[in-house]
Amino acid sequence: MKALVLEKAGQLSLRDIYIEEHFGVDDVRIKVHTVGICGSDVHYYQHGAIGPFVVKNPMVLGHEASGTVIEVGKGVKHLKAGDRVCMEPGIPDPNGKATRLGMYNLDPAVRFWATPPVHGCLRETLVHPGMFVFKLPEKVGFDEGALTEPLAVGVHAVRKAQIRPGDVALVIGAGTIGMVTAVAAKAGGCSKVIIADVVQEKLDLAASLGMTAVNVTREDLNQTVGNATNGWGADVVFEASGSEGALSKAFEPLCPGGRVVFIGMPTHPVPFDIVSAQVKEARIETIFRYAHAYPRALLLMESGTVNLNPLVTDKYRFEDSIKAFEYAANPKPSSVKIVIEL
Ligand SMILES: [Zn+2]
Repeated sequence: MKALVLEKAGQLSLRDIYIEEHFGVDDVRIKVHTVGICGSDVHYYQHGAIGPFVVKNPMVLGHEASGTVIEVGKGVKHLKAGDRVCMEPGIPDPNGKATRLGMYNLDPAVRFWATPPVHGCLRETLVHPGMFVFKLPEKVGFDEGALTEPLAVGVHAVRKAQIRPGDVALVIGAGTIGMVTAVAAKAGGCSKVIIADVVQEKLDLAASLGMTAVNVTREDLNQTVGNATNGWGADVVFEASGSEGALSKAFEPLCPGGRVVFIGMPTHPVPFDIVSAQVKEARIETIFRYAHAYPRALLLMESGTVNLNPLVTDKYRFEDSIKAFEYAANPKPSSVKIVIEL
């Protein structure tokens, strides 16, 4: 089948590839429709590695996908051919200890699309365990279907933060993950979500989604958060930029007893002032992908509480996948989510 293959760092080809797939009784065969390009895909394309994960053999990219079911195994009861679906890209070992404890995202044996050596979803069809395939509600289109994946990250982060009604949240970083975290925080009961970035175009989009946007090149973030909270500070800080400068200062705008959730992944170890966290008895949470978040993400979109369509700023055809990645490596400041349609 045709697929977008990362041959090695910096070299992509759209070509035929043979992928050995076993179709079991609990599996679903899917015709892929829309795939979102994630920062990690672009990172593999540019550098051929993320931390310990190194691309040693040609690998199909992509892990944010929606599509249409073309075949279901005998054991699959919740889906039928023709259903529009989205897929959770990580497949854990069902018998692993972390999986049995409910933390299947932390299973050391998890196989995640487009994390070497596992092929991703930028290809015509794929086989996936039915357990990780979710039917799209009627009003959720293929774009939002593909964006269920990043939204799941936001949902997971908000659950970790244990948001309470009326909380004021600060989200640092207005990329896709910052945006989906902000909308999930709002949906989760925050009275106000402040979002900080250095790119005005992204902040304008965030503002159109109901967020209070702060351009940190022009405004003092701590002061803005202080003004918005009678000097108390944000109840929750979501760090979604992964930038070293922002990370080390994440506790400054936090209120006493507040929570900080680290979502962004810095490329290097980052030092931070532990005392600045201690004097507020800050609770620190971290997240790695998500677990059990897809059904909630889909319900949020079905109910209209969350609308991710404005985040899709650029669309490419499958034939132009290489162009899409070249653009994604050097996008306009206004670009948030670039998707490829098959
Ligand atoms: Zn992603």
